[in-house]
Amino acid sequence: MFVRSLIRSDTQLNRSSYYEASVERPGPEAPLMGVTDCDVVVVGGGFAGLSAALELAHRGFSVVLLEADRIGSGASGRNGGQAIVGFASGQGPFEAQLGEADAQRAWDMSVEAVELIEQRIERHGIACDWRRGYTYVADSPRKARELRAECEDHNVRGVSCEWAEGADVARFIDSPRYVAAFHETTSGHLHPLKYALGLARAAQAAGVRIHEGSPVTGLRRGKTVMVSTAHGQVMARYAVLAGNCTLPEFGPMVAPELAPRIMPVGTYIIGTAPLETALCERLIPNGAAVCDNNFVLDYFRFSADRRMLFGGRVSYTTMTPPNLKGVMAQRMGEVFPALKHVPVEFVWGGFVDISMNRAPDFGRLGDNVYYLQGFSGHGVALTGLAGQLVADAITGQAGRFDVFSRLKHREFPGGALLRTPSLALGMLWHRMKDALG
Ligand SMILES: Cc1cc2nc3c(=O)[nH]c(=O)nc-3n(C[C@H](O)[C@H](O)[C@H](O)COP(=O)(O)OP(=O)(O)OC[C@H]3O[C@@H](n4cnc5c(N)ncnc54)[C@H](O)[C@@H]3O)c2cc1C
Repeated sequence: MFVRSLIRSDTQLNRSSYYEASVERPGPEAPLMGVTDCDVVVVGGGFAGLSAALELAHRGFSVVLLEADRIGSGASGRNGGQAIVGFASGQGPFEAQLGEADAQRAWDMSVEAVELIEQRIERHGIACDWRRGYTYVADSPRKARELRAECEDHNVRGVSCEWAEGADVARFIDSPRYVAAFHETTSGHLHPLKYALGLARAAQAAGVRIHEGSPVTGLRRGKTVMVSTAHGQVMARYAVLAGNCTLPEFGPMVAPELAPRIMPVGTYIIGTAPLETALCERLIPNGAAVCDNNFVLDYFRFSADRRMLFGGRVSYTTMTPPNLKGVMAQRMGEVFPALKHVPVEFVWGGFVDISMNRAPDFGRLGDNVYYLQGFSGHGVALTGLAGQLVADAITGQAGRFDVFSRLKHREFPGGALLRTPSLALGMLWHRMKDALG
């Protein structure tokens, strides 16, 4: 309840997002009214829920998708837009728990997840500013050594990368901050809200019935599941829960056993006014998205209309950090001195659903309720794959879904009240490590 009320106090941050300002949303879909039935009911209209609904409809299932607020109003319409191979956890939990062969299988699926974005964009004609190219950077010799190992690991696993250090880093980024970098062209970036709205259009064209403004507050399990909203009910053979870390906020009783396994962490982005083309080409010559390898990440890229979208900062209490715009603009100026005085027109944020080990948490409750959560800040590409895997599993092809569902996940210690301070303390240590180089 504590976390729930804090998240709620923060939702306004989405309203000043560059993404919301740069799309024209269709009129709201009507809330669910009355009783209806279908094969599969999907809870949540972010990338994961939309992807599941689309894939299920393509396999011939009748699908109803219920979204508490608007399509893409959660993390999917707010994020950095960086579609990245691999996992926030790295390969560690996969190797330790599943062995090398399935760990590699999971990695290959993460690469496939990026391909899937491109296929969907083409198949459904989704204009969302997609482009390939990704640069990873390090700001100290210690972190450069870690980055080098990551680069080599990508190469070994089949994602070929170009390495640079010292003055050579300027090939990829013009910043005094970084001492090493590597670049690959498998990962990429897009306008996430345009992509989410495009997926919703495609899902509706395939027959999915979408209801916005329809928070699911109850789930009755059994051979036929029944989900309830304030004004309606859906009876279905299967349910897919894709509510991310706001599921306990909108529907605390829907699946209370899932909530302690993830934790909402706030992360924030600023958007500048449009910049000169020549300046953009000088700062990031190949137009890639960029991310550093600090524990508290800076992640940034140029939008298609040449704004610097600079993400970073975190909140482990879900309270919005004070003077967010000023603090983030200062950080951006440290990375790119040329941007020190450019106007910042947008500031927004959202919540990442981190799991204890930062690996995604997919599984089943009983035989016919599936859940997808724990993307840990690495969900732009993986959510799309998750939707495909859950649709395969419901069709009886569960092998790939079960690579993930076999991963064991622990609850955050301390419950909803104490997990926050204990995590914050842990993070303080990592922050100090970041600062020490
Ligand atoms: C600021 C920010 C930056 C990020 N940057 C990146 C990035 O650059 N790259 C990357 O890979 N990942 C990034 N992420 C993470 C990524 O956005 C998420 O992993 C991904 O969008 C999760 O998708 P989802 O569908 O699981 O959740 P969401 O998009 O949050 O969707 C869940 C939906 O379910 C709805 N819902 C919840 N409960 C209920 C209920 N009871 N009834 C009905 N509906 C309900 C919510 O309203 C919401 O719309 C970022 C996240 C944030 C917040």
